[in-house]
Amino acid sequence: MQRDPECIFCKIVSAQVPAFVVHEDQTTIAFLDVGPLAEGHLLVVPREHHARLSDLPAQLAADLGSKLPKLGRALMKVTSASALNVLCNEGAEAGQVVKHVHFHMIPRRDADQLGYRWNAGVYPAGRAADLAAAFQQAIAAPQS
Ligand code: 5GP
Ligand code: ZN
Repeated sequence: MQRDPECIFCKIVSAQVPAFVVHEDQTTIAFLDVGPLAEGHLLVVPREHHARLSDLPAQLAADLGSKLPKLGRALMKVTSASALNVLCNEGAEAGQVVKHVHFHMIPRRDADQLGYRWNAGVYPAGRAADLAAAFQQAIAAPQS
C-alpha cells in the first residue's frame, strides 16, 4: 500500500500519530478533525496515500464514497445536527493543506455561523454547450 512517511494522515493511518478514530475498515479511516469547524467535524480518509481526489483509483473512490451515508447518519445522530456539508479540497488554491485526499463531513444547523461565498454566475449564450462538449470529450479520452 502506498504511504508517504512525511504525511500526517499516513501517520494517523499507521497509528504513529493518535487520533479520535470513529470508523476503520480495510480501506478507509474516519476520525475527528483536530480543528473542527463544528463539534463532530469528521475527516474520511483512504488508508492508501494519494494526494488528490483526481488521483484516486476509481475503486478506491467508490469505496470511500460508499462510507459517507453511514457516517453521515452517525454524525447527525451523535451531534444532533440537522444537516451536513461534505467537502473535498483538492489543490492548494482550493484550500487543501494536507496532501492526502480526504472528505470533510461538517455538521450544520440552522443559523450556525459557518458559510462560504457562493457567487453564482451566468453562462453567456453558447458557453454551457461548448463546455459540456469539452467535458464529454475529456471524459471519453483514453487517458482520462
Ligand atoms: P484541508 O485544508 O487539507 O482540506 O484540511 C485538512 C484538515 O486536517 C484540517 O481541517 C485540519 O484541522 C486537519 N488536521 C491537520 N492535521 C491534523 C492532525 O494531526 N490530526 C487531525 N485529527 N486532524 C488534522
Ligand atoms: Zn498520506
